This record gives sequence, structure tokens and C-alpha cells, in this order.
Amino acid sequence: MNYSPYFNKKYETLDRSQIEALQLERLQRTVAHCMNSPFYKKRFEEIKLCPEDIQSLDDLKRIPFTTKQDLRDTYPFGIASVPLERCVRLHSSSGTTGNPTVILHTQKDLDEWANALARCMWMVGLRPTDVFQNSSGYGMFTGGLGFQYAAERLGMLTVPAAAGNTKRQLKFITDFGTTAVHAIPSYAARLYEVMVEMGIDPRRDTKLTTLLIGAEPHSEEQRRRIEEMLGVKAYNSFGMSEMCGPGVAFECKEQNGMHIWEDYYIVEIVDPQTLEPVQDGEVGEMVLTTINREAMPLLRYRTRDLTRIIPGPCPCGREHKRIDRMKGRSDDMIILKGVNIFPIQIEQVLLQFKELATDYLITLETSDSNDEMSVDVELSQLFTDDFGRLQSLTREITRRLKDEILVTPRVRLVPKGSLPKSEGKAVRVKDLRKHF
Ligand code: ADP
Ligand code: ZN
Repeated sequence: MNYSPYFNKKYETLDRSQIEALQLERLQRTVAHCMNSPFYKKRFEEIKLCPEDIQSLDDLKRIPFTTKQDLRDTYPFGIASVPLERCVRLHSSSGTTGNPTVILHTQKDLDEWANALARCMWMVGLRPTDVFQNSSGYGMFTGGLGFQYAAERLGMLTVPAAAGNTKRQLKFITDFGTTAVHAIPSYAARLYEVMVEMGIDPRRDTKLTTLLIGAEPHSEEQRRRIEEMLGVKAYNSFGMSEMCGPGVAFECKEQNGMHIWEDYYIVEIVDPQTLEPVQDGEVGEMVLTTINREAMPLLRYRTRDLTRIIPGPCPCGREHKRIDRMKGRSDDMIILKGVNIFPIQIEQVLLQFKELATDYLITLETSDSNDEMSVDVELSQLFTDDFGRLQSLTREITRRLKDEILVTPRVRLVPKGSLPKSEGKAVRVKDLRKHF
């Protein structure tokens, strides 16, 4: 069958002026609708803002930011813009960084979410002929049901394998002829390890072509590793439960930045300190406004995720802006000896060494009132136990890390499989520092 390159041609092929006109119309509608939210109504009254004051996209700046703390303060239902009887589902964030937050959805919200994510999967080439397996936990985590409904919407045979039991996961992949898998990057690496243990060659014994990886920060090096290991193309998928879940931004086939669907979201990148916009191309905190949501629109939501807009047009032709691979969350930043460090910078260096596997752990400790960093990293299976070779490798890794992060960490090479594995998103940093 001859399929269209677009899942939703009308919205995917809008040009910049059409996108902006649609955004203004939807923003105005959203702000008016937010008058039904006790939280936003009070906010607007405090600053004497009326929905009619929003006359241009620039007027968005008149609206105050919404923060994760606002979601916590109004927990569970205080921001909703519709009565509860119109809602059909709620999701709660995995609580990586504190108390959970709740997002409510109407049936229309769920439909629109499925449409957005189906659009992403279609964009990377998935079609109804594909067999899609989802290794996300089902339940509160939006990567489960989110991908399930979207994959069905696209028309794929969908295997809701869910998280855990990797051997069973692999049996499904081989028995059902799975062609595409959704996994968090750390789990994609785990799938390969278990394949090796079970004597499965992904290229010979599976039909895998595509991996959708997201939900946690990962480097370009990590992506390339996953592609090489599994013999697939791996596409970066960005989402967060506050914005529905997966489907907010997704790489196209160019694999160079993630298109953020601007018929659903208005994206701003601001300096996290001054909250002023940064130039296109500069890194800052991403702020998102939902403009296609009923139950619980969020205006200028501070995601705490750091990224930048990739300037210039994408060769795929879609004019929806592209955001760069996430640098991390502002609260992931390590401050050590006065230097700011993101875990992803360390990952980038480590994964350039073929002798190393993909799992690592950064530990921050205080010794003799000095804060120190150690980096434990697993060796790849193929590697030697020749002591001299390990020593020189350790020295080389330490030197390259120092060049990147400007402090000298203590590097320990540990056997494959020896670092603790987490059930969900990988835990990369342990902070045991004593704060005086
Ligand atoms: P929690 O906030 O509890 O982790 P979510 O499941 O909603 O719950 O996680 C959303 C967060 O996950 C994002 O704000 C971002 O920090 C991270 N994230 C999601 N997708 C990606 C991605 N592709 N790359 C990097 N980080 C991601
Ligand atoms: Zn593109």
C-alpha cells in the first residue's frame, strides 16, 4: 500500500504564518477557558488580566508562569478548567523530583494526545504493517497508556508487554515479529545485554527496525550505541506528564532535533534566572503553554528542562520548531567546587570509549571537608582484565573527563552488570555530600 508521508497532513504541513495564526486563535480560546479554573481565575484577577487582553502571541508574556509548585499547591484538582464529571482519566508524574502532580484528561484530551503521538510514530516511518511493542510500565506512567492508544490509533498490531521480565519481552519480540519497540534508553541497553546472554542476534533473529527512546536524558553517543547494538534506528521522544505525556516533541527521520507540535504547544526558552527569553539557538529552560487541551490547560509552564531551539529549517519540510536533545533538568545540575556540571556531559565522554558499557554512576561525597566526585562505569563484555591496560584506560578517561567538566573525578572501572539497576528511569547521580 502507498501511504502518505504524513499522519495529519493538514497540521504537519502548516507554514510559519499559518502556525502562528492558529496558535493565537487557540491561545485566546485557552485563556478564556482558563477562567473556569479556580486557580487561573484568581491569578488573572490578581493581575487584572482579561482574556480579551491577549491580542497577539506576544501578549503571552503578560501571563505569569505556572510552576510545578503550583501543581503541588493545588493538588489534586485545583487547576482543572472543567468539572470532574467531564474528566475520564488522570495521570500522575512519576515523582522523580518530589511529590506527585496530577493531570486530568477529558475524552477529547485523550483523543488529541493519541493523535499527536501517532503523528510522531508515523513521522519516523511506522505504518499499520508494523508490530509495536511497548516496554513502558502501564499505569500512572504516561509512557504506557500513552503509547498504547497512539499505536492503536496509527493502526499497528500493538503488544502491551509493559515493564520488566526482559526474557519474556524478548520472547515476544521474536515470536510476534516485533518491528518497533518503545523503551527508555537505559532499558534498551538492558534488552541487548539479555539478548547476548540468551544467544539472540538482533539482526539475525528479530525483525526490529525502529526504537523509540525517551523519558530520560541521554546523549547522542548513547543513541548511537543503541542503534549499533540492536541494528535499528533509534528516535528521541520527549514528553512529560504535565503536557499529557509522550508526543510533545519527537525526532523526524533527520534525527537532528525534535519537532515540537506547535498546534498543541507554544514553546518559549527562557533564562532560568532572569526568566527573560533567550535568543533562538541558546540554551535555557523550556516553558510550554498547552493550547489544545480541555480539562487542565497549563499556561507558561516552567518545565525545568534545559534545551535550545535549533535554528533554521528542517530538511523534512515540517516547519514546527525543533528543540535540541535535552541537556538535563535545571535541578539535575551538579555544582562541584563551584563548577556547574550536567551528568549528560559525563555520559558523552564515557560512551566515546568502546571499552565501556552504557551503565555508569556518579557519586558525590565529602571527604576531609572536600567535595569529591567519583564515576563508576561498567566495562563492556569484550574487554580484557589486563591490569596495565585497565590502568592506562582509567587515566585516559579521567583526563578526558577533566577536559570536559574541569574537575578531576575518581574513575573506577567495574565489571559488567555490577552497578545497581533501577526499575524505571536510570539513577545516574548519588549525592552523599555533607552540607555544612
Ligand atoms: P517525572 O517528572 O516524575 O520524571 P515524567 O514521566 O512526566 O515524570 O517525566 C518527564 C520528564 O522526563 C521531563 O520533564 C524530562 O526531564 C524527562 N524527559 C522526558 N523525555 C525526555 C527525553 N527525550 N530526553 C531527556 N529527558 C526527557
Ligand atoms: Zn524534520
